[in-house]
Amino acid sequence: MPGPIDYSLINHQPDLDSAGWWEGTAAHRLLVPSCEDCAYRWFPPGPVCPSCRSMNLGWHEAEGRGVIAGYVVVCHPVLAAFREAVPYVVALVELPDCANANGEPVRIGGVLVDDEDAAAIGAPVEVVYDHAPDDAFVVPRWRVSGEAADGWRFEN
Ligand SMILES: [Zn+2]
Repeated sequence: MPGPIDYSLINHQPDLDSAGWWEGTAAHRLLVPSCEDCAYRWFPPGPVCPSCRSMNLGWHEAEGRGVIAGYVVVCHPVLAAFREAVPYVVALVELPDCANANGEPVRIGGVLVDDEDAAAIGAPVEVVYDHAPDDAFVVPRWRVSGEAADGWRFEN
């Protein structure tokens, strides 16, 4: 298992585009930006729909289950908050319940709570939530919840 992440070392400053997303995570809700005009969904949050350029935006609540579309193993901590966490896995998670009508998936990055041995492309994952000290902010992470049917993984 990766070591702990020291969230007290992170200067958390949501901006106008991400503030609603962070309000969602605080309530253990995984939100994905959604266009109110064309229904396109994407991640990360931004001020304009990437599909139709509308600024009439809302949120779609994802169920918090996905599939690993790709991953990397971080062995060198770039940020002090992750000094005790290495090695840890950053996964790009595809959210099937957020897929767009044209088939474009929505993918969200996050840190696995499992170590590298559990990670594989195609493995199912579910969201879990890490709380910063004093609940200053809440970070979604991912737990591997099963085996990949035809998974792929880095070999040592
Ligand atoms: Zn749109």
